[in-house]
Amino acid sequence: MLKLIFATKNNGKVVEVSSLLKDSGIQIVSLLGLGNGLNIVESGLTFEENAKIKAEAVYGAFRVPVIADDSGLSVDQLDGKPGVYSARYAGDYATDQDNNRKLLFELSGMPEPHKARFICSAVYYDGKNFIGTRGEVNGRIIKHARGSNGFGYDPLFMPDGYDVTSAELSMEEKNKISHRAIAFRQLGNLIIKSSEKI
Ligand code: IMP
Repeated sequence: MLKLIFATKNNGKVVEVSSLLKDSGIQIVSLLGLGNGLNIVESGLTFEENAKIKAEAVYGAFRVPVIADDSGLSVDQLDGKPGVYSARYAGDYATDQDNNRKLLFELSGMPEPHKARFICSAVYYDGKNFIGTRGEVNGRIIKHARGSNGFGYDPLFMPDGYDVTSAELSMEEKNKISHRAIAFRQLGNLIIKSSEKI
C-alpha cells in the first residue's frame, strides 16, 4: 500500500478522494489528521498552478510524497468566472450559500442555458517530479438550488444528461461522473505505474 498525504483540510474532498482511490493501492492521510498550522496562499492564476503550490508547500513541510488538487466552477457567460476564485467568489470568508447567491445575481438577466463546467487539476509531487491530470464535467447552472448532498455549487449545477443537480446525486453517483473522479482516477493509475518502474 502506497501512503500519501492529501494536501487538503476539506473533509468533503477527503471522503470523495479516499473512496475514488480505494481500489488503487493508495492510502491517503489528509492535513486534518496531521494537526499543522500550514497556511497556503493559493496565488496561482490556473487550477494547475494552485494544485502545484499546495503540493510543494505540503511536501516542504512533511518531506513525503503528496497529492493535491485545485478545482472550481467555470461559467461561459461569466468568461470562466468564478474559476480559481470559486471558494472565495463572494469574499474571503464567504459560505457556499453566499457564493451561490452571488452566482445567481451575476447571471440574472442573462439568457438560459447558463453553460458551465466543473474543473479539477490533480497533481502528485514527490520532491522531484510532478504528475498532473485534469478532469472536467459539463453542465448548466439552474435558477433555484436543489438537493442537499455534496458541497459548494452542487445545488445549482445540473450535469449534462441529467435532470437532477449534483446535490441530488449520491456520492457514488457523483463519483462516477465528477471532475475530481476523472482527475484522481487517472492520477492514481499514473502514480501506481510510475512507482512500478522504480
Ligand atoms: P478548492 O478547495 O480550492 O479546490 O476550492 C474549490 C471550490 O470550488 C469549492 O469551495 C467549491 O466552491 C467549488 N467546487 C469544487 N468542486 C466542487 C464540487 O464538486 N461541487 C461543488 N462545488 C465545487
